[in-house]
Amino acid sequence: MGLSSAYYLHQSGHKVTVLDKGDFSDNCSYGNAGYVCPGHFIPLATPGIVWKGLKWMFNSRSPFYVQPSLNGSLIDWGLKFIKSANNKHVEASAVPLRDIAILSQKEYKTWAALPGFDFAYEHKGLLEIFQTQPVADHAHHTVEKGKGLGLDVDLLSYEELQQMEPQIKINALGAIYFKGDAHLYPNKLMKVLLDHLKQNGVQLIGNEEVTAFEKEKKKIKKVITAKQAYEADEVIIATGAWSREIAALADTKIPMMPGRGYSVTLENSNYHVNYPAVLMEGRVAITPMDGNKIRFGGTMEVVSTKTPPRYQRVEGILNAVKRFIPEFDMAMPSTDKIWYGYRPCSADGLPYIGRISKFENVVVATGHAMLGLSLGAGTGKLVGELVDEKTNSIDMKPYEVERFGR
Ligand SMILES: Cc1cc2nc3c(=O)[nH]c(=O)nc-3n(C[C@H](O)[C@H](O)[C@H](O)COP(=O)(O)OP(=O)(O)OC[C@H]3O[C@@H](n4cnc5c(N)ncnc54)[C@H](O)[C@@H]3O)c2cc1C
Repeated sequence: MGLSSAYYLHQSGHKVTVLDKGDFSDNCSYGNAGYVCPGHFIPLATPGIVWKGLKWMFNSRSPFYVQPSLNGSLIDWGLKFIKSANNKHVEASAVPLRDIAILSQKEYKTWAALPGFDFAYEHKGLLEIFQTQPVADHAHHTVEKGKGLGLDVDLLSYEELQQMEPQIKINALGAIYFKGDAHLYPNKLMKVLLDHLKQNGVQLIGNEEVTAFEKEKKKIKKVITAKQAYEADEVIIATGAWSREIAALADTKIPMMPGRGYSVTLENSNYHVNYPAVLMEGRVAITPMDGNKIRFGGTMEVVSTKTPPRYQRVEGILNAVKRFIPEFDMAMPSTDKIWYGYRPCSADGLPYIGRISKFENVVVATGHAMLGLSLGAGTGKLVGELVDEKTNSIDMKPYEVERFGR
């Protein structure tokens, strides 16, 4: 969110500085599954996930987990999440999720055509493969809903699915094929964005953690780190899973929790799929990337960023892969081969993008949960429009930062 916002702000003539508490070489935007997916129009907060979360709570290899805690921010987030997890909310989220994803995909396509912007963007669709009858039954509704939203989507029989992946035997009943979805290699995307910003004079300052803001009336005057204070006439808070704390420094409440996920990427491996695929019951993503790479990712652990990684969750991912594709029988990799990152999870599965009430010169761009890569370019464009006071490309109301109260 930070880099793509910087891209559009620089493009419209602003002098931009990006501060990162890390050194820009790793964060959630690197090890993700790389889906750019208008087909994901169902938010994280759904009625089913709450019950699954409770059921899976005590299984260390399960794909969804909420760490029981008396921590106030988790309780606040959890109550709001449960309240949002209803059919009415799922229904109301579909158009906003579709619109921002389509906007974003259009921007990615534009970027992919720019010189030097090779990030292995491929537009070949995405499969959601299912094994059980209840998920197959639900798939019918998803396909109907997708068609109703104007998406190019089909339900595939088992035979049709197998024809798309003839080199492997898949254990499944069928799949949903979202033909309009795309994917890319996130690590390359981050590299080309960083290179582009650097070459164009955007200041990228790493290893500086924002710790405070200097305020004057209705404006943030300075962004303060342990080393320096930076004057600013506009401030964009795009600090991913840490945005609740940073927004609080600007006297703004955003209910948010980190949702940790893991991935393993193999290069030149014998495991090969033609299409990116979500293994529905296992909640695992498989993405063929950048020619000869394949990435397996998944799990959603709602935990503090200080909780040590639970590597046994990766065993859960690999076991799920094997249940769907028995010949993908992978040994557990050493921990240095396992990536993990923290998704910034809003309480209702919609991002927080917009201005805040306390200060006139602050824009927030966060809370994208499982969709931050997909919605990244579009979010940057919307941030640029907000700062330049242009009419936004899409209706911004559903993403209001303070929709849960001030
Ligand atoms: C396993 C997995 C698979 C995923 N697959 C997909 C997918 O296929 N498609 C998709 O759309 N999304 C996917 N996601 C989600 C996606 O990766 C995230 O939504 C997205 O990367 C969030 O981007 P961000 O810019 O908000 O956060 P980040 O990329 O985490 O960036 C936040 C930055 O803020 C910095 N920061 C934090 N605090 C401070 C501070 N105080 N001062 C200075 N800097 C600070 C951090 O150092 C970091 O660089 C996946 C996530 C996981 C874990």
